Amino acid sequence: MSTGADALSFAINQCGTVLFVQLRYQFRVYPTPGQQIELARAFGCARVVFNDGLRARQEAREAGLPYVSDGELSKRVITEAKKTEARAWLGEVSAVVLQQALADLNTAYRNFFASVTGKRKGRKVAPPRFRSRKDNRQSIRFTKNSRFKVLDNGRLRLPKIGDLAVRWSRTLPSDPSSVTIIRDPAGRYFASFVVTLGADETLPPVDAEVGIDLGLTHFAVLSDGTKVAAPKFLRRAARKLKRLQQALSRKQKDSNRRKRAVVKVARAHARVADTRRDWQHKLSTQIIRDNQAVYVEDLCVVGLGRTRLAKSVYDAGWASFTGMLEYKAARYGRTFGRLDRFFPSTRMCSACGRINEKMALNVRSWDCPCGAAHDRDVNAARNIRAAGQADLNARGAHVRPAPVPAARREAGTHPHAACPTRSVEGISVLRAERMSTRDLSVVPARCVMAAALGAARRRR
Ligand SMILES: [Zn+2]
Repeated sequence: MSTGADALSFAINQCGTVLFVQLRYQFRVYPTPGQQIELARAFGCARVVFNDGLRARQEAREAGLPYVSDGELSKRVITEAKKTEARAWLGEVSAVVLQQALADLNTAYRNFFASVTGKRKGRKVAPPRFRSRKDNRQSIRFTKNSRFKVLDNGRLRLPKIGDLAVRWSRTLPSDPSSVTIIRDPAGRYFASFVVTLGADETLPPVDAEVGIDLGLTHFAVLSDGTKVAAPKFLRRAARKLKRLQQALSRKQKDSNRRKRAVVKVARAHARVADTRRDWQHKLSTQIIRDNQAVYVEDLCVVGLGRTRLAKSVYDAGWASFTGMLEYKAARYGRTFGRLDRFFPSTRMCSACGRINEKMALNVRSWDCPCGAAHDRDVNAARNIRAAGQADLNARGAHVRPAPVPAARREAGTHPHAACPTRSVEGISVLRAERMSTRDLSVVPARCVMAAALGAARRRR
């Protein structure tokens, strides 16, 4: 878990102007042993309230009774429950933490209902599940009215927990509206602040527009010819992970040695994820800064993940990368467009528009009968750019970014089922404009990566 900012959601009016962007800023916190006990208690209480609420609704359903309303549920599993002997200890933690646990349950139910009735697009959402003490990731949320506070001495004051030491890697741009305290599988603690920003961060406009082809040979190839080498963080760390994994498998069940080995494996995974995110943040910020419009192909990552290429696909992390491009475009007043994944970007000649024969994966460059010589990926990126621009013109307005699904993990919903399939409609113009042939420049991705790795190491 890194300490960069992530988008939660953003609102856009009909002219395509961003009204506000909600960002999440995450920082490492270091609770004292005593505070860790208090946090564990709060995690436990939040989990019990969540599970009690879920059970109440399930039992009502089985008994043929109507859905228990949010207000009624809160009264039953918090207010009334505190008066009973079995749940009296709920009073020992902040009431806001308990209310927020129920709010998560309510959101999970709403997402599930919306998915069942088809109101919610995208992947199917499963009904809420019980939370377990053994879950790897524990979290609680404090809202403004819990009176959490960032003190002048830099500590974070949480009601009934105490003043936590925070490692501030950057300053918060404005007053946070909530903070979530997370304990990750590696046993680390984080404070995740939600901050709402106005649209005053718009960058000065630039002329360049770019199409991006995401791939396995290169992580990304841009329509201007830039090639960014695929970061193979997981591969590089694979040997170490394998060794740790083997060590883990030799440990006896329920032993202390095994517990320690589990934490080691989780730490190694977390380190890889951190480095990848840092690297993706740098690259996506640079692309958004340099271009007025960014177009990408909508890859079905879930579909590809089931194939032989799975490891490379997850290693590459395209979904999180395009997500970053999307919210940064919204935040900085740029245009972001996602193109249909059935668009024949590879086979089409970006000079004449002819659609050629299917190409094997090892064909890296080809010549069109029209005389144009193409680099496979750069040609694809140019087609993506041209199609994105055509799509934009056809609609006569900004390509409006889809809302970023808000805080899925914290809402307690868990998507499953297959990737949504989008139709081939939408991109009508197949003739690409003629583009100047620039020299292919290669971004020294290794330097960027080394810097990212160094930064990640320093942070620890
Ligand atoms: Zn051609």
